[in-house]
Amino acid sequence: STIGRNIVDEISFGAIVKIRDQLLEMQRQGKKVYRLESGDPSFSLPPHVKEAIKQAIENNKTHYTDSTGIPELRKAIAEKLVRKNKIKDATPENVIVSNGGMNALYVTFRSLLSPGDEVIIPDPMWTEIAEIIKLAEGVPIRLPVENYIEEMQKYEDDDKVKAVFVNSPHNPTGLVFTPKQIDGIISFAESKGIFIVSDEAYEDVIFDGREHVSPGSKYDNTISLFSMSKTYAMSGLRIGYAHTNSEILYDRMKKLLRCTINGVNSATQYGAVAALTGPQEFVGQMRSEYQKRRDIIFNAVSKSRYLEPVKPGGTFYLWAKIKEYPKEVKDSWDMTYYLLDKTGVGSSPGPVFGPAGDGYIRFAFSADTEHVREASELIEKFE
Ligand code: PLP
Repeated sequence: STIGRNIVDEISFGAIVKIRDQLLEMQRQGKKVYRLESGDPSFSLPPHVKEAIKQAIENNKTHYTDSTGIPELRKAIAEKLVRKNKIKDATPENVIVSNGGMNALYVTFRSLLSPGDEVIIPDPMWTEIAEIIKLAEGVPIRLPVENYIEEMQKYEDDDKVKAVFVNSPHNPTGLVFTPKQIDGIISFAESKGIFIVSDEAYEDVIFDGREHVSPGSKYDNTISLFSMSKTYAMSGLRIGYAHTNSEILYDRMKKLLRCTINGVNSATQYGAVAALTGPQEFVGQMRSEYQKRRDIIFNAVSKSRYLEPVKPGGTFYLWAKIKEYPKEVKDSWDMTYYLLDKTGVGSSPGPVFGPAGDGYIRFAFSADTEHVREASELIEKFE
């Protein structure tokens, strides 16, 4: 055949899948396993959101929609961005609705980058970010997340850097940037005249009273990205959204949506309107439940002989350093399998998130509280 090389060949495909397959195989063999390898909210949809989706179908709102999203949803999003994120100029005409946050990320980077453009991203980082940048023909530059702002300064004179990526709260470490750190990133971007791409998928999964700060509230050249997956436990319904006040970028994003997904599932868009405009108590209830789980797993892992956890300020991930290696264990991958074998608890090896993940593993605590509690006891005691 004559299939030539393609940009898609450059990207890697889900290293975590290997662990997931093993967990599923153990499950088939009748073993008790704990799915802490990846994050997906355990909560069910709020009833009014379910009802709105049912009603949309009942009322035959099942036709093609505007490829940037139904006007009702773009209006609800724009109002939320102004009210909650303090993005003052958000209007229904400068937001798009995407097929999950992931689709918004792709549409953003594809619209923003020319081949070879560099994007600064944190190391470690949720695996897909670097892959999406590569798919958009860009080059990810990974800088250690704990010294992100200082490290950036080394690129002050690098003209190939066209954007800085921010993800706060941060997957996988759970780190939340302080308002001062956000200001530092803004100063850097401003002095270079480049964009900030801000992935705020975990804006509502944030603990101990911390406040989420949207860079878009302070810096115009920000493309702000959001997801309904975590805030409203809508991960399978695939709704994300983005805001930019650049007309050039907006037009490109619009064209890309038109040529790829041509609008998100119509009924779920009505569900998203209900989620954004309806009662918000659910969001706070989920947040406190996640915080409870955070405390359970953090306390347990702190007592483990082998692991030293980083306390997450947000997200539902616990990042843990391997402080002592069991005899047969040499690296993070081994540790993941060792733990799985000894306890049935799944985790993700740190290096899948970038070189800085070497010597770490990540647990997701999005599974229900009892499940997290049982898994935590096993992690605390394993030998
Ligand atoms: N951004 C980050 C940092 C994530 O961890 C995720 C999902 O895990 C997403 C974006 C996208 O989520 P979704 O495509 O479900 O909106």
